[in-house]
Amino acid sequence: MRIPMTEYLEIDLETERWRCRRCAHDLGPARGNYKEGTLVYNRDPTEIHRPLIDPGRYEFTFAPDPAWCRILEFYCPGCGTQIEAEYLPPGHPPTYDMQIDVDALKAQWAARPPGTVIPLGRDVTTEPLRVSGSNQ
Ligand SMILES: [Zn+2]
Repeated sequence: MRIPMTEYLEIDLETERWRCRRCAHDLGPARGNYKEGTLVYNRDPTEIHRPLIDPGRYEFTFAPDPAWCRILEFYCPGCGTQIEAEYLPPGHPPTYDMQIDVDALKAQWAARPPGTVIPLGRDVTTEPLRVSGSNQ
């Protein structure tokens, strides 16, 4: 059974693996950090937050200083969907933002009736929630 965790992430309880909800690409062990299975784009924050005033004339332009801040974008290697983004100091490792108690999740879902469906947002299909043992 695949359990949706975010809009783009799910956990396959049988294999205990993170998967992309768009393409089912394997992103690593569910007891670990899914970000280790993603592609990371280390972005200069001024690409996103452009200076509001002339950087040639002013030291502070209301844009983040790239010497102090980076934007890490995490993408699925299978389909290119952006899964997450975070602002961190340069050189800081990606954060560990979700540590799932897989054993508790398994117990929780074992107690639910077969075919239980979690309500999804309007942009996400129910396709990945099939109860079958298929990986696709
Ligand atoms: Zn994907």
